[in-house]
Amino acid sequence: MMKWLLTAWRRLVRLFVGGKYGQKSAPYRTMVVHEALPESLTAEVIYVVEEDGFLEQAAMLCPCGCERILHMNLLPDDRPCWELTQHQDGTATLFPSVWRKKDCGSHFWFRQGQVIWCSNEADSSIV
Ligand SMILES: [Zn+2]
Repeated sequence: MMKWLLTAWRRLVRLFVGGKYGQKSAPYRTMVVHEALPESLTAEVIYVVEEDGFLEQAAMLCPCGCERILHMNLLPDDRPCWELTQHQDGTATLFPSVWRKKDCGSHFWFRQGQVIWCSNEADSSIV
């Protein structure tokens, strides 16, 4: 029993400490903009471009730090297309994962304002 508790406690601490110091734990803010993106984007903000009541695209600075802007199309008629969910706490979720196949090769899930890196892609070929 004690051993189980200890293991659970350690796991919890690792989760907390890892989340706090290992990665950025503050969720991305969601900013809805109309028609166009601002000229320069702020890190840890996901921009949602809305035009005529339609969500057109989401954009963010690449979370790896390469400073490229990632554009995710939200219009279902175009491909590739992401589904954006906005949550009550002001965060957003993107589906499916975002994979930048050129340059930095970042591949991550964006869930409730958190970047969750995909670590199982080591043997994938990235162009
Ligand atoms: Zn990057």
